[in-house]
Amino acid sequence: MDMNLFFRLSFIALWALFAVVRGYYGRKTKTHSTIAGAMEKLKTAIAEEDMGTGFKIITAITTAIGAAGLVLYLLSPPWWTWTSIPLGEWIQWSGIVIALVPIFFIIWVHRHLDKQWSIALELREDHKLITTGPYRYVRHPMYLGIFIYNIGLMMISLDVLVILFFAFTIWVNYRRIPREEQMLIQKFGDEYLEYIKRSGRLLPQFRRDKV
Ligand code: SAH
Repeated sequence: MDMNLFFRLSFIALWALFAVVRGYYGRKTKTHSTIAGAMEKLKTAIAEEDMGTGFKIITAITTAIGAAGLVLYLLSPPWWTWTSIPLGEWIQWSGIVIALVPIFFIIWVHRHLDKQWSIALELREDHKLITTGPYRYVRHPMYLGIFIYNIGLMMISLDVLVILFFAFTIWVNYRRIPREEQMLIQKFGDEYLEYIKRSGRLLPQFRRDKV
């Protein structure tokens, strides 16, 4: 098989696998019931209400170019070659591993976060603070997993526009973190502040003062 096709098929397979995992936990935890509901929640999650017009325009343009780039990458018509980056195939092979491993990690995350999961920033009914499993070490293991998974997809594609698209996605999600922590501090107070002391945001605290 032509390697370009092989990597594109791997890209789609990894995407589908991720979608199946998210779909499964989405149904199980009822985080959103319809696609329209999901879109509304995503708007609050990216803090659309706090965005200036300039930022909204940049978001719209980047998303449109990124989405078009993604489609072109996946179809790869012979006249569309200028966005592909001529780097070694080993980067693409590594990308497959780097995208696959976090999918299993995210399953572990979902099993612990359970009904506390939401694609929006919100507190759900009987919201409990989770500090077990991956949450023992880091406060945002799901984002960490998604960021690494996105980096894997970028590496598989070696395509400028696909990279732009995922880099933007990572950045938008990264902006959520302080607001999410603020919300959890308001809800859980000292319990969350104590939790901050013993965990890392995205990477574990390696040097921790023993009490
Ligand atoms: N940021 C987390 C969770 C992403 S899902 C992660 O990356 O793993 C987003 C929702 O998770 C938020 O609406 C918030 O209510 C909830 N959440 C985040 N951390 C939590 C925790 N430690 N315990 C309970 N809920 C949490």
